[in-house]
Amino acid sequence: MSIHRKSKYEVNLMKQAGNVVALVHAAMKDAVKEGITTKELDELAYKIIKSNKADPTFLGYNGFPATICTSVNEQVVHGIPSKDVILKNGDIISIDVGATLKGFVGDSAWTYPVGEISDDKKMLLKATEEALFNGLKFMRTNEKIDNAAGAIEDTAKKYNLGIVRQYGGHGVGRVMHEDPFMFNYRVNSSLILQRGMTIAVEPMLNLGTDEVEVLTDEWTVVTKDKKASGHFEHTVHVTDDGAEILTKLL
Ligand code: MG
Ligand code: MG
Repeated sequence: MSIHRKSKYEVNLMKQAGNVVALVHAAMKDAVKEGITTKELDELAYKIIKSNKADPTFLGYNGFPATICTSVNEQVVHGIPSKDVILKNGDIISIDVGATLKGFVGDSAWTYPVGEISDDKKMLLKATEEALFNGLKFMRTNEKIDNAAGAIEDTAKKYNLGIVRQYGGHGVGRVMHEDPFMFNYRVNSSLILQRGMTIAVEPMLNLGTDEVEVLTDEWTVVTKDKKASGHFEHTVHVTDDGAEILTKLL
């Protein structure tokens, strides 16, 4: 495993990339409405990224055909935007955004409600966001990464939610996926977080089973029981004082 710790200069560039990602999310929050297609959301994201002199990190990544991942309801991650997917009242949509600017990547996901959603889905969104921020409390120098993972696991258990196990957080920097991989549950990892590490923390929690499968489009990950899934992600910088969120507005 080779972990690239970033200099102040590099972290500053990552903040600029993260700012573009945050601009996209701010637009998505407003644009997500009954009747819009996921293709329209994708086109809006592309325009914002390009107009900020950045590049969409996901487009072409392992052949992914779009700027953002749009995963609706039981879709967990990697949903492909489409003109045929029209958002309906009561849906939830996880939008994952990656932008590359000046050679560095920002990566952040958020799950948005469409109109009025069920109490179960409200709980799912609240709990998954809470899991992210509970994990971030442990993203500081000299802390075990396993403690951050454990905080996510404990939050999922508190709300009786399934934890997606095949996917997780990751180092991020000059490329989207760097070491280390970060589980969303305890694995007894001995890895100690160090100053300058930049990691995307991203719990994916389900209303039902932990189990997921990939659709025949070879991208879209769905829950096996077709119950809804939430996904919240920030790219953070590990410091002595805790997690500094990089995917936020400057
Ligand atoms: Mg992401
Ligand atoms: Mg990620």
